[in-house]
Amino acid sequence: MNAVRRRRTRQRAAVRAALEEGGEFRSAQELFTQLRERGEGIGLATVYRALQNLAEDREVDVLHGVDGESLYRRCTSAGQHHHLVCRSCRRTVEVSSQVVDRWAGRVARDNNYTDVEHVTEVFGTCEECRRTELPERRAELPENGRAAPRR
Ligand SMILES: [Zn+2]
Ligand SMILES: [Zn+2]
Repeated sequence: MNAVRRRRTRQRAAVRAALEEGGEFRSAQELFTQLRERGEGIGLATVYRALQNLAEDREVDVLHGVDGESLYRRCTSAGQHHHLVCRSCRRTVEVSSQVVDRWAGRVARDNNYTDVEHVTEVFGTCEECRRTELPERRAELPENGRAAPRR
């Protein structure tokens, strides 16, 4: 292995290790900050490239957040699955994809489409965040205690 390759392999291992530490989805920028704080001499571009490679090799999952930012995580499920993600703390539940896969397949078949792919992520507020956010939210609620629809 030449020096460049050795360096890349080491950096990729560092990115992988950083992903394993926290557990939840993180952006390239957040991982970069985490690695720098640990004294890892790594550039943001290298972090991006390592993440891309890891995603291509299916070693990490990529989530496209509602704001369009890509987030990365090492999941414990083998095979395809979906994510239920907390908007506030990013706590993630891995969800079996069977029902959604069947639905997507049927929709495509009904319209005579092939090579079906679909992207499904579910976002919400987890129980813990709901509990900690409740006091301030309660003040916004109307008399009957139910939140008005947002749109
Ligand atoms: Zn996953
Ligand atoms: Zn949460």
